[in-house]
Amino acid sequence: MFSSLPTSVLKASDLIASKDPLSLLQAEDRYALLGFPVAHSISSPMQNAALQEARLPYNYISIEVRPEELDLTLQKLVHLGFLGLNITLPHKRAILPYLHKVSDQATFLGSVNTISIRNEKLFGYNTDGPGFVTALKEEWNLLLPSQRILILGASGGAGRAIAAQCILGGCLELYVASRTPETLTAEVERLSQFSKGTIPIHTVELSDAGIASVMPHVDLIVNATSVGMSENDPLLISPHLFNEDQYCYDIVYSSTTTPLMKSALQAGSQATNGLSMLLYQGALAFQIWFEQDPPIEIMRQALFHK
Ligand code: NAP
Repeated sequence: MFSSLPTSVLKASDLIASKDPLSLLQAEDRYALLGFPVAHSISSPMQNAALQEARLPYNYISIEVRPEELDLTLQKLVHLGFLGLNITLPHKRAILPYLHKVSDQATFLGSVNTISIRNEKLFGYNTDGPGFVTALKEEWNLLLPSQRILILGASGGAGRAIAAQCILGGCLELYVASRTPETLTAEVERLSQFSKGTIPIHTVELSDAGIASVMPHVDLIVNATSVGMSENDPLLISPHLFNEDQYCYDIVYSSTTTPLMKSALQAGSQATNGLSMLLYQGALAFQIWFEQDPPIEIMRQALFHK
């Protein structure tokens, strides 16, 4: 089942146009998710449950920000005293020029999904990669060094971070797929240099033939495209290409069983959606903002029992 709109969403266009932007906010609004679209996200109930549990006097909101509104929105939010942001599609790479400092890990992963704002300066981090690793361990006790991994959509914000994290974590072999494989050339070169050629990295076309040719050689399939967010999206991999020894992690979480999961499950593979990654990337963001342990179980409940 596809989830309904979880939270109210503030439009950046209203925030930018308003002569009195404070009138659009509650006094406690100091943390926000920026994206377009953003209404599908369930970060807001998860982070607000954590804030409440930790007795922190803040509120977390979702703001719909079109690409051309990113610059003015950031200026407004800094001016209004916002303290932390999460960044989702399509801004995870576009945000980089606005940051005063980017963590080494986010620099290596090539995208930023968490920002801490201190003294009007923006500090960027990436919690998608580490969140993905923790989720794999929790779901199936999978560790990267034993895995041959295929990532669909490795040119997107989350896909790049996951691909780089797989190299950082020393996976056995990496297959990166994109509908435009040439967009991956520079990234593959960079990751190969980092691993000094010790981890084979293959570029794959995101087509039926391209995917079919590599499926027998992989243990773990990761969907990092946005395909599957809508019920009418195409199926990326047919059931007959999966086998029962494989694992399929779909980072899309807008439905309990995404179309790709259905396909994998039909073949007897293990499959899950992206809720566990959402939980752990959010928990790490909380830790960065407040320098205290996140209330994981409260956050999990907010996500899984929404
Ligand atoms: P993004 O930066 O916009 O990347 C989207 C990727 O999807 C790009 O690689 C894009 O390819 C690809 N894509 C889009 N439509 C496609 C299609 N019809 N066929 C093939 N590829 C297609 O977005 P993102 O921030 O990485 O997010 C991607 C998805 O992951 C979203 O559903 C988001 O909600 C989810 N997500 C989940 C978590 C989690 O914690 N579970 C975390 C982050 C993101 P091109 O580069 O060729 O356009």
